[in-house]
Amino acid sequence: MTSLDDLPLRDDLRGRTPYGAPQKSVPVALNVNENTHPIPEDVAIDIVGRIARAIPGVNRYPDREFTGLRNALADYLGHGITSDQIWAANGSNEVLQHVLQAFGGPGRALLGFAPTYSMYPLLAAGTGTGWIAADRDADFEITPSTAAAAIREHDPDIVFLCSPNNPTGTPLSLDTISAAYDAASGVVVVDEAYAEFAPAGTPSALTLLEGRPRLLVSRTMSKAFAFAGVRLGYLAADPAVTDALRLVRLPYHLSALTQAAAEGALAHSAEMLAMVDEIRIQRDRIVAELTTLGYEAYRSSANFVLFGGVDDPGAVFEELLGQGILIRDVGIPHTLRVTAGTEAETSAFLAAIAVLAPVARPASRIDA
Ligand SMILES: *Cc1c(COP(=O)(O)O)cnc(C)c1O
Repeated sequence: MTSLDDLPLRDDLRGRTPYGAPQKSVPVALNVNENTHPIPEDVAIDIVGRIARAIPGVNRYPDREFTGLRNALADYLGHGITSDQIWAANGSNEVLQHVLQAFGGPGRALLGFAPTYSMYPLLAAGTGTGWIAADRDADFEITPSTAAAAIREHDPDIVFLCSPNNPTGTPLSLDTISAAYDAASGVVVVDEAYAEFAPAGTPSALTLLEGRPRLLVSRTMSKAFAFAGVRLGYLAADPAVTDALRLVRLPYHLSALTQAAAEGALAHSAEMLAMVDEIRIQRDRIVAELTTLGYEAYRSSANFVLFGGVDDPGAVFEELLGQGILIRDVGIPHTLRVTAGTEAETSAFLAAIAVLAPVARPASRIDA
């Protein structure tokens, strides 16, 4: 057994740490923004049937163009999007990696607005792409002029706009997205992993695709669709973009079983998304109750809430973990992030954090 330091690893990967959200078996896991509701049994049975029908054919490679799945994803997105505008891969992380492989790489740069999704700098590193962390305005918001100024200053090859943003929950306005697009000379990706949790009537960046060939909108089935274990992410863009992504994907990258399962879930999208309303209620309840407790809960259009006013996030994290409740310390000082779970899970978190509130906020802080 040799050590990592002894291996002829790429210099630019030395000293880096892999993605590592704790994966612990606890009664209340509210740390990685999964949909904590299991998928409905009738949908599960349909998916099992589809997989069973696919199995005898697995001696052959799967449909490299995942035609049926692309059609189903285009139907699901609506907005007049056609299947030649759709790309998919094993999670939107792989979709984003394809984007970096095609449009980034050595000598090129990716710009994001920090704090944002922790995978962006890791995906940049893995593809040898430079990472530029631009600043946000107060309360993690981004105005059109803030976005445009940072993009003009750095002129990156790729911009990632996460809306709603992980880990802060902050949505971006379409004005900010179009200002970013106008300022950019490279491709602009809007990561809408949490779009389904936005308040009803919130317009998607999909409405901006027409006439913007450098705009890419990525989505995932991992969150609202309660499908994180299957690994299916996708994007919509100009058909020329999907042609570019074909240059870097591995052949047959989406297994026949993944395609069958995802098509099954999409055939029941209304039922699969039925829990979204309930999750939104729990999210809004977390914001309201944490605010009452004296924490600073940031506005969220996603299925999680970032809250500040935590004097010792590490101690609160450990105390909750001791009670079987796993949340996330995302490394933003004095904050923690919690996923909106079922009503029971959310109640367990709120009851535990209510008891901790006085401990987390020592007298000096309250007196101030
Ligand atoms: C969870 C998440 C994803 C989705 O990742 P998958 O690979 O599709 O599971 C993408 N972007 C953001 C910001 C996320 O939080």
